[in-house]
Amino acid sequence: MKQRVVGILQARMGSTRFPGKVLAPLGRTVVLDWATKAIAAAPGIDELVVATSTLSQDDIITEWCIKNERNYFRGSESDVLDRFYRCAVQYDADVVMRFTADCPYLDPQVIGQVIQLRAMTGADYCSCNDPPSWPDGLDTECFTFKALEAAWNEAVRQTDRDTVTQFIIRNRDRFPAESVICPFPGMNNERWVLDTQKDYELCQAIANEWHGEQPPSCTDILRILERKPEIRELNKGAIRNERFYQGLADEQLPTRGFERSQALLARTTRTIPCGSQTYSKSAVHFPAGASPLYISHGDGARVFDVDGHDYVDLVGALLPVILGYRDCDVDHAVRRQINSGYSFSLATKLEAELAEKLCDLIPCAEMVRFGKTGTDVTTAAVRLARAYTGRDYVYSKGYHGWADWSISPYNEMGVPKPVSDLTVQLGLGHDPRSAAAIIVESNANDASPKTLHLLRRFCDENDIILIFDEIKTGFRIHMGGAQALYGVTPDLACFGKAMGNGVPISALAGRKDLMKMIEPEGGAFFSGTFFGDTIGLTAALATIKKMEEKNVILSLNQIAALINNGIDQSGLRGEVDFSGVGNLTSVKFRDSDIKALYIQEMAQMGVLTLGEHGISYAFREPEVERVLKAYRHTLDIIRDCIKNPDHIHRHLKGKIVGEPLRQSA
Ligand code: PMP
Repeated sequence: MKQRVVGILQARMGSTRFPGKVLAPLGRTVVLDWATKAIAAAPGIDELVVATSTLSQDDIITEWCIKNERNYFRGSESDVLDRFYRCAVQYDADVVMRFTADCPYLDPQVIGQVIQLRAMTGADYCSCNDPPSWPDGLDTECFTFKALEAAWNEAVRQTDRDTVTQFIIRNRDRFPAESVICPFPGMNNERWVLDTQKDYELCQAIANEWHGEQPPSCTDILRILERKPEIRELNKGAIRNERFYQGLADEQLPTRGFERSQALLARTTRTIPCGSQTYSKSAVHFPAGASPLYISHGDGARVFDVDGHDYVDLVGALLPVILGYRDCDVDHAVRRQINSGYSFSLATKLEAELAEKLCDLIPCAEMVRFGKTGTDVTTAAVRLARAYTGRDYVYSKGYHGWADWSISPYNEMGVPKPVSDLTVQLGLGHDPRSAAAIIVESNANDASPKTLHLLRRFCDENDIILIFDEIKTGFRIHMGGAQALYGVTPDLACFGKAMGNGVPISALAGRKDLMKMIEPEGGAFFSGTFFGDTIGLTAALATIKKMEEKNVILSLNQIAALINNGIDQSGLRGEVDFSGVGNLTSVKFRDSDIKALYIQEMAQMGVLTLGEHGISYAFREPEVERVLKAYRHTLDIIRDCIKNPDHIHRHLKGKIVGEPLRQSA
């Protein structure tokens, strides 16, 4: 049955930053005329309505509509969701489109594609701005009346009422979403929206260059900007959706329940041991029933759980997400690679490109091999060390993955004793002189810079292979890892996590003579079907490129300093402890009840955390503000519980049942 698509354009005179912008002159007409003409020209729109408020200052908008033969609707000024809902009811919409009058350069064809994609997929929500791959100002959203009605009935947050669609977007598990992605790279950095006086100058400059009868398309505007690149300078540097993100930091959050997470836990545990593939992401690690367990999607610095709650994410998928979720540049590179294929029957040139890059960045890297997980490459490193030295013992500090050789200090179940006996924890009174290798996590918690230097000397004196496990530190504390930051070069080093912004890839880097042990003459074996998959390689190349271009680590360290300096832990030392280097901050707790309280209360305040901060480049001031607000609230409660131990049972809604193995395992 044909569904009736009603486009609703919200417009009001009372913009805080640019009052009266909707009727501001633009070219030979006014802003609202550009926007309505573009929407009316889009294939698939059955009706277009300008929805304004009932305030008298907006009478002028309805007068304009009457004069220009446009439908109009008047509703609440502050509850825009209510305005949309009532308008959709009045115009008998099956499918609703949302436009805003600060977008004079909507592209009719993109609008048509959003309508078409939603219809063909049956999605409840479809847009061209989530993720934001198109220029700011082409924003087009399309959703079912059913989803709008649910939002209208249920949404209580101020940002939900303001933005109309946030409730639907957050609840992706209930309202499946689709997205029309821009085929051109870097377009998310373009800003053709009209928020400020500077934006107005850019919009005017474009209008002056456009002489067509029809509204310009995105490509028409790109051609103008190619001819006149200086136009871009007019509004450079503004932050996309700044006010929305500020709103998220300021608002009071309602109490969060986790019913859908619990239901999914019941379902997944029927077929999946632990209900999760990763120990630290599984339910046993979280306060039972009192925190989210399953995520539906991510966006920049935020993630959304299946119950529709948003979180500023301090976990970063256990550290890999260094640029942020759905980073436009990495994702564009990956999509482009998908067009050529992911896994092949022979090796590819991408392997050389990434290997050469890592050899440039990482002091110990003379040769490189790739893997998919951290365990792949720590295990390979240990094997090479054994093959090279002809010795068996390995001295280890820190967590290096789930393999037999590495897990035994934490868990011996299923590991043959002769194997576990060969891995000895460093610093327990044994004499490591006969070791094949010493492998250490090169972060300050496990080995200080001074220790790393001492180990280097010790290994040199005893012909031991020194391996740095830089799975956490690599591309986080320095592009070349801890070894570059501290000026101490190991023989082999292992990288993973942040290297691909969340796409699985790891790397073993090291001395040529050692790495050549993998060649037939060397005789040691290290190989995997997927070790050279092109998606991981592409993601890593794109991630590293962006990190270098934007000096991401410097930004991360600045953001981390804002967070760390803002956390007031007075009176909590020994109960909750913060430590770390650069942007890597580790939080330790006196006991698991305090940790449970911490996770629970931070989640209620809209911050997802496990005790280790893995912030991303997508963090900005509003995210920092929300994190600090959450910390103030949470540490106050913890302080109270420490002073009055009986209070903990009043606050704590669920206990952590799992034993901690190791953070971010
Ligand atoms: N080494 C370190 C320092 C780690 O933190 C981890 C995982 N958190 C690993 C190795 C193992 O990596 P993976 O889980 O990808 O196998």
